[in-house]
Amino acid sequence: MKLKIWSITALVVAITALYLTTASLSAKAQLPSRPPVTAEAATTGLPTVQTAPEIDPTPSPTPTPTPLPPRKHTYNKCHVAGSEIAMTFDDGPHPKLTPMLLDMLKERGIKATFFLVGKNAADYPEIVHRIVAEGHEVANHSWSHPQLTKLGPDALNKEIAQTNEAIHQATGIQTTIMRPPYGATNAAITKRLNDEFGLAVIMWSVDPLDWKIRNSAHVTKYITENTTPGAIILSHDIHPTTVEAMPAVLDTLTAKGYKFVTVSELIALDLPEPVQPTAKTTPAKTRK
Ligand SMILES: [Zn+2]
Repeated sequence: MKLKIWSITALVVAITALYLTTASLSAKAQLPSRPPVTAEAATTGLPTVQTAPEIDPTPSPTPTPTPLPPRKHTYNKCHVAGSEIAMTFDDGPHPKLTPMLLDMLKERGIKATFFLVGKNAADYPEIVHRIVAEGHEVANHSWSHPQLTKLGPDALNKEIAQTNEAIHQATGIQTTIMRPPYGATNAAITKRLNDEFGLAVIMWSVDPLDWKIRNSAHVTKYITENTTPGAIILSHDIHPTTVEAMPAVLDTLTAKGYKFVTVSELIALDLPEPVQPTAKTTPAKTRK
């Protein structure tokens, strides 16, 4: 009798163990596939929650990163959540002043954007190469600095294509932004630049008129007093007074908490325009 009870007990234990094993395997096979990595985690690089190793017969699809906002045709400034700004220098490279400026930027770990005149880029490819090697952005500012609005279609093509080529030859980079000389463009030209050349038009929101008012103190004062988050600041690295103003400009803006990024980096941070329900804030302009 005692032996029989033990036999039955052993049988029950064996059946229970078999059942539990089967159920466990079956449950594992039915576990949902691993949740996809969130877009935020994918972009921030934060570690995702790790679960125990599991049977995963159907791998989850590759997570789709948050798409960048579509590029606008033209940017005067950007709407950013942080304190990013873009410092831009036009009309170079200049054989003496641009290297001086690059030293100032390097010393401070600041990135800027250079809108190059194509024929200058072709004359000084080693400076163009240095600009890119030090982490700055290079962009198209036409070949010979004409008013694009006064050119026929073929001349316009040449101004843009030759400059793209000079930049490409010096750096291997195909630029995606351009600034029309004097800011002179129209809807048709902007559309051509966008559609045919893949170039977004970059204007500016802060203009110290440094080409006209050759005074470092003025350049410093105007830029540091008129810069706001998302600003695109216009200046020219072919004027000694502008380059001489830069240490004070860069240090003052840094002390105010601004973070310098390239134009393309700023564009990537651009948010939909904030809704202004009532009050319209107009920044005080002291000069036109
Ligand atoms: Zn220019």
